[in-house]
Amino acid sequence: MIREMILQTYTPAPIEGTFVGKHIVTVDQFAHKDLEILFHATMSLRKRVREHDRGLTELCAGRVMASLFFEASTRTDLSFQAAMRRLGGDVIGASNGVQFSSVYKGENLADTVRAAGCYADVIVMRHPQQGASFEAAYYLDKLNKRIDNPTVLISGGDGIGEHPTQALLDMFTIFDRKKKFDDLTITLVGDLRNGRTVHSLAKLIARYGVTNTRLAFVAPDSLRMPENICEIINTSGVETYETDNLMDVLDSSDVIYWTRIQEERFENPADYDAIKDRFIMTPELLKQAKADAILMHPLPRKHEMGTQSDHDVLDEDPRAVYFEQMENGMFVRMALLAKVLRGVYV
Ligand code: ASP
Repeated sequence: MIREMILQTYTPAPIEGTFVGKHIVTVDQFAHKDLEILFHATMSLRKRVREHDRGLTELCAGRVMASLFFEASTRTDLSFQAAMRRLGGDVIGASNGVQFSSVYKGENLADTVRAAGCYADVIVMRHPQQGASFEAAYYLDKLNKRIDNPTVLISGGDGIGEHPTQALLDMFTIFDRKKKFDDLTITLVGDLRNGRTVHSLAKLIARYGVTNTRLAFVAPDSLRMPENICEIINTSGVETYETDNLMDVLDSSDVIYWTRIQEERFENPADYDAIKDRFIMTPELLKQAKADAILMHPLPRKHEMGTQSDHDVLDEDPRAVYFEQMENGMFVRMALLAKVLRGVYV
């Protein structure tokens, strides 16, 4: 109840060119200029990491990041931790995972987050419930008024809601490969209803402002992109096309963003079984895509990318960029941490 009230009334601060001290809970906080600033910083940091620049560790020296993952994660958790350490900061987390913190004793989210807020400068949080990051930000704001060292919250995924930092790294990867956001067909495939990465990515593309780029949504009827997100995109003027037939758009897509059917979000296993094999990317299928298309996936992947032998073949295809996405995730998160904590790095 409280969470619903907060979700409806809490408006996180827009970035408007200044990241320092701002919680990052939705892509709605970003405008074109903010993305340019962040991507510029990301490129610069990536170069410095590749050059083994020791000066990087000065950027967040003495700062502490708390990792609060109430839901499974590999890439988001590890890349944030690696990012913070590469910037010279420290990382804390409950020794045996958040489930063995006082959450085990029944402590609520508001108190758990405020406990972390008393010790850390930034909290990265993932939670299975939509709106949890808004709730965490709301209670941190209250705490920040009472302590000397304010704490920033970054969402690492919010139930079926959003995954803002994934969308940032996805956009960065598209730009890195395509060198533009205009004149593209960007096709999102799979579980568009429950997949938070595609919610954030579709909105962020619309927020960036693109010319002659269209978004194609390919999903079975039961897993279509939520209406409210379609509305936001249509209002922004970006053309959308919805279909349940991949063949309508595969050979004209410049970006193919494949997703996992989010099994854990289904109440009824039979509903999952009914559509789980609907879209499977295989080397054969990829042959029908443009020679210069890119194949993205937020990962983890399961059978929606075929068998492990299919994976092995797909992974060798120069169009597959999901390992680049993974690596870019760390660079984008380095840029974000440096910016929200110190405002540095342009
Ligand atoms: N890792 C992504 C997420 O946390 C995608 C997925 O789980 O399918 O949303």
